This record gives sequence, structure tokens and C-alpha cells, in this order.
Amino acid sequence: MKTPLQKVRRWLKEKGFELELRRGLVWQTNLTEKRLTGDPTSMLDYPLNEAEKLAMLLHECGHVDRQRLVVQLGTPWDNDLLATGKKRTSAWYIAVVREEMDAWDAADRLAKRLALKGLSRAMARMRRKCLMTYIGWAAQRGNSISGTIKK
Ligand SMILES: [Zn+2]
Repeated sequence: MKTPLQKVRRWLKEKGFELELRRGLVWQTNLTEKRLTGDPTSMLDYPLNEAEKLAMLLHECGHVDRQRLVVQLGTPWDNDLLATGKKRTSAWYIAVVREEMDAWDAADRLAKRLALKGLSRAMARMRRKCLMTYIGWAAQRGNSISGTIKK
């Protein structure tokens, strides 16, 4: 019988993606290079148990399934410019948050498709944790952009 990790690996392989899980790597997907990386032990300063690790992996697979990522690699988290040199707009920040939400939805569907059981609580927990990080970032950076409604 295949372990959940083996099932996800096989799914990624069918999509032509390489998976590397190593301590110190950031959880991210590179759609151009067809590469998915992650730290099997933690997400930033948050230690991951087995189910949470799988949830993080499935989330990245959600981006693979959708073939869509707003934040491309090489676009710094703390930069207000796009790769084109144009300024990021509040609509751009919102698009990032929306894509992250959609990737979590895709992750839930993939867990069902691969018949991975017992993950729903870990999926919900990691979804909340990751989305709140994105929402906080978008709100903070997006606030400096003109067009913000003043109180
Ligand atoms: Zn993501």
C-alpha cells in the first residue's frame, strides 16, 4: 500500500514535477521549472506534524493543479514593484490572496481525489495560518497604495 507522501509524489511525477523536501527549504512551487520544494519539518517558525506537512505539500500541489501563481519566484515578498518595474496595486495584492485561497480549495479537492484520509483538521489549520499571513501582508503593504478608503 502506498503512503500518502508516495501518492502525492506519484501525482506530481505524472504532472512532470520534481519534489524536493529538505530542511531549510522554503515551501514554494516553481511552475516554470516544474519544481516543488519544502521543509519537511517546519513552515517558517512553526513546527509541522505529519498531517500538517502533507497539508502544506497539498497546498503547493494546488498551485500546480491550477497552473497559476501570482507571486512568481524572484519577486521579493517585501518589494512594491512587479517584475515589469510597475508598482504593485491593491488589486494585485488581492489577486495574490485570492490565488492562495483557490490553491487551498484545489488542495482539498486533490486530497479527495487521492483518497487521503484524516487530513481535514490539519488542512483547515494550515489554511488559516497561511492565509492570515498573506492577508496581513496584503493589508499592510496594500495600505500604502493610493485608493485605500480613508476612515
Ligand atoms: Zn501558496
